[in-house]
Amino acid sequence: MEYNAMVWFRKGLRIHDNPALDLACRRSKHLFPVFVLDPRYLDPDPSAFSPGSTRSGLNRIRFLLESLSDLDSSLRKLGSRLLVLRGDPVRVVSQILMDWNIGTLCFEFDTEPYSQVRDNQVKDFASKCGIQVFSPISHTLFSPADIIKKNGGKPPLTYQAFVKLAGQPPPPLTEAYTCLPPVGDLRGCELLDIPQIDELGYGDISQEEFSPIRGGESEALKRLEESLKNKEWVAKFEKPKGDPSAFLKPATTLLSPYLKFGCLSSRYFYQCIQNVYKNVGKHTFPPVSLVGQLLWREFFYTVAFGTPNFDQMKGNKICKQIPWNDNEGLLIAWREGQTGYPWIDAIMIQQLKKWGWMHHLARHSVACFLTRGDLFIHWEKGRDVFERQLIDSDWAINNGNWLWLSCSSFFYQYHRIYSPTTFGKKYDPDGKFIRHFLPVLKDMPKEYIYEPWSAPLSVQEKAKCIIGRDYPIPVVDHGIASKDCKRRVGEAYALNLPSDSLETEEKLSGLR
Ligand code: FAD
Repeated sequence: MEYNAMVWFRKGLRIHDNPALDLACRRSKHLFPVFVLDPRYLDPDPSAFSPGSTRSGLNRIRFLLESLSDLDSSLRKLGSRLLVLRGDPVRVVSQILMDWNIGTLCFEFDTEPYSQVRDNQVKDFASKCGIQVFSPISHTLFSPADIIKKNGGKPPLTYQAFVKLAGQPPPPLTEAYTCLPPVGDLRGCELLDIPQIDELGYGDISQEEFSPIRGGESEALKRLEESLKNKEWVAKFEKPKGDPSAFLKPATTLLSPYLKFGCLSSRYFYQCIQNVYKNVGKHTFPPVSLVGQLLWREFFYTVAFGTPNFDQMKGNKICKQIPWNDNEGLLIAWREGQTGYPWIDAIMIQQLKKWGWMHHLARHSVACFLTRGDLFIHWEKGRDVFERQLIDSDWAINNGNWLWLSCSSFFYQYHRIYSPTTFGKKYDPDGKFIRHFLPVLKDMPKEYIYEPWSAPLSVQEKAKCIIGRDYPIPVVDHGIASKDCKRRVGEAYALNLPSDSLETEEKLSGLR
């Protein structure tokens, strides 16, 4: 076999259960493992929250670079290496396919709209040049297209319907490589070293506090093992019972960043959980179980793949049309953790900004607060902030959950609103989470930690935190704001508008 094959890594940054890598190895004498750094994802300017929401903040880019280094080091142990290039991926990949005389191109199937366009362009180019292309499904457990087909051409719009259709996922590959085919002749092509984060223009990083979450397949497998070690915990896992304020030992696996970049295979994760279930016998079930969480991921991937304009309100047939407010000042207060509600601010400024990860119910709290709970701001704006700052930021899951939390789709009980004061208190009456992430409030007595504006001035002075000077006065009164939000969502629901008519625009403006 004299073939040159290329495996093009994008997500799927792993060696284990990687069908694209496997196919490429089987078909080649020389293997070219490539990653193209796409400038579209790089945006070091922290003030840039561009619509379209593909740009990465510091923590996610750092996680990506660590994942690339780990992948490179694993490839080197197998006699290969990662070939890193930078530029528009369609242009770069087309060029090297020619330069390196590639006969087979393998890459993981990607369902996101941007990736679909990119991959179709590359596929077209390759087929014109007579290059074989393989694009197996391995980012998700199932093929979203197959599920949609089984459902008569439409995505299932409830989790239960999805689970009924899905069945069992295929098992992961078990291939354990001892070596890979060597890299072929690079014909003078200039490669990059995996860049350092500051080389990508990400500001004065010495000033930044980095997330404790480190990237890479090795870290993913360690974390997986650690998470599943306590079999009883796995068997009894019930998502809604987790404590969102637990930060030293989070209440969930914290594997989402690794699934997002494919440092961890979801099929392998699924199989490991099933192995635990076999050992323990009795266990919880979807939707609340740990397997149930992976199925939520699949559910959102499937709906997102089958719904045009999934990431916006306009033209999105499954999205309720709601006349959200446009209020830049309130949006910035929310984004920068300056709402005056310590539970919200601790999650936003400190956990999201510094760690790039929050517990699911913490995400619920802040997403509800921004949209239908208090500020009545468009979910797309919140989505953009999450998109930039979350390490696990994932197009299908992020949009799906924002649609859910804003009562725009999937979930419609808009009367049920998270209180920004009492919800966190249920889990953490002493306010340890707030004290850790908002040190300005560290000496506030526990009676006032969730509502510091209600503390008498003498108490504020003693705590060295004067409300209005050291920490903001609440930007809205939750009692009044939440009532107003309910009324407005109710009015929008009553109109029951289609998503893309001109008449809708007019009627919505009447509700503003
Ligand atoms: P675990 O509870 O340990 O679950 C294991 C895995 O299941 C997760 O890693 C994730 O891949 C999947 N999963 C869990 N919950 C969900 C869910 N509700 N929907 C889909 N998949 C799920 N998750 C992301 O991965 N990326 C995002 O961009 C994202 N944005 C969100 C935005 C909002 C407004 C909300 C409310 C939730 C969002 N989530 C997102 C879902 C969820 O909060 C995270 O997946 C979860 O908190 C990650 O922590 P974990 O890995 O410890 O989860």
